[in-house]
Amino acid sequence: MTGEAAATRWLGPLRSAVSELTDLDCARLCRFELVLRGLLERYPVDAGLEAGVRSQHLRQIRCGLAEAGCLALAVPARHGGCGRPAVLQALLQFICGYHDVDLRDSSGLGHGQLIAEHTAPQVRDRWLPALLAGAVPGIAITEPHGGSQVHATQTTAIPGRGGTWAVTGTKTWISRLTEAAVFCVFFTDPGGRLCAAVIDAASPGLARRPIAPAGLSGWAWGELRLHAVTVRPCDILGGPGEGIQLLREHFARYRPLVAATALGAAAGVHDHTTARLDARRQAGTVTGLRDNALITLGRTYVQINAAFLAALTAQRLAEARDPLAQLWGYAAKAHGTDAAYEAASELALLTGAAGFTADSGTAKARRDLNALLYADGIHDSLYRSAGRSLTQPAYVSDPLPTVTTEDNNLVHT
Ligand SMILES: Cc1cc2nc3c(=O)[nH]c(=O)nc-3n(C[C@H](O)[C@H](O)[C@H](O)COP(=O)(O)OP(=O)(O)OC[C@H]3O[C@@H](n4cnc5c(N)ncnc54)[C@H](O)[C@@H]3O)c2cc1C
Repeated sequence: MTGEAAATRWLGPLRSAVSELTDLDCARLCRFELVLRGLLERYPVDAGLEAGVRSQHLRQIRCGLAEAGCLALAVPARHGGCGRPAVLQALLQFICGYHDVDLRDSSGLGHGQLIAEHTAPQVRDRWLPALLAGAVPGIAITEPHGGSQVHATQTTAIPGRGGTWAVTGTKTWISRLTEAAVFCVFFTDPGGRLCAAVIDAASPGLARRPIAPAGLSGWAWGELRLHAVTVRPCDILGGPGEGIQLLREHFARYRPLVAATALGAAAGVHDHTTARLDARRQAGTVTGLRDNALITLGRTYVQINAAFLAALTAQRLAEARDPLAQLWGYAAKAHGTDAAYEAASELALLTGAAGFTADSGTAKARRDLNALLYADGIHDSLYRSAGRSLTQPAYVSDPLPTVTTEDNNLVHT
């Protein structure tokens, strides 16, 4: 959003919270941002540009980062990546969000993580190199009856020829609709159980109906229709009937990254607002900064940082397959995007009317953050799910941690 570097300004003070990163990793982060900024100059994604141009530029940026060796920094070596600690991806997402929320798919495997971890070797070998070279993965779960009712999925598979399935149904509100090279699609198997499969975006039987989005509009969005699309046994993700389990595990890892992107965007708006106020002071158009502005700047600064630290914790729990990972994934995504949206909205009021033009970065960030309240998990449903987890007998009856006098470490008795 501004000429500032998110990596040093915002992430520098959090260095002690990511102690698994080496100094070289920190240098990699700075280089990532430098390369990203160079690519943004070449392939701008500003709100004022036509949507098709932005979509093309976003894909060119992902490919450019791949060519520069920056796409797969936090992708495990077994998947063909650099194998640096997973937490690095959260920091990369923060940097991407800082510059533009639509850059959320610029690095890492994204939803392609499902392909990397849950498919047969021939399917993984078909898609992983392409994803690491810049191809975009999409995910298709939501249906017209309501995304909050995954258990009522109406897209179904019936037995096809030679052990294949034919999948038919309609998915809606699908992001990366025309850009994705491959989709992870959720449907019910012939036995009526939820499952998922990898579907080539060029498969016969797929049709698209784009819908103009209010936010996150750099990517095409809309309806993905499937008519007797062929799925081979090797395309199935995980085991039979594992759809719900896959969704839970995948989103426990993905949601902290969404929160990180959102909070990066709020940090971008924060820096832009600070710079603008400073410029007005320097120009003498305001003599001193009013308390309401100073208080908002201070409060949102700590809110963004606190929510980001929570997102990092959620990500760590998910990577460790901790039993609390899902709860933290719900809460960190809901709170992180809420905090980011509220901060950006309050900060926008300090910028003057310039922050309200359709092509202003602040206005775009607010539209994108508003969309992120829904994408990848609805805020109210997530808080509700977190509340439900916190009232489960297993959680309530879990023994309280105690503090040992020897080392002051928290241990479970
Ligand atoms: C920008 C964007 C990108 C997206 N990208 C994708 C994508 O790539 N792939 C994909 O699969 N999906 C995608 N989605 C869809 C998103 O995941 C869904 O919007 C979300 O799951 C909610 O589904 P829904 O919109 O159908 O809302 P609904 O399920 O209809 O819910 C709407 C509201 O009703 C509430 N509600 C539900 N039940 C009740 C009840 N019994 N009583 C009262 N209130 C209730 C919900 O809590 C919610 O607040 C995207 C959405 C957006 C906005």
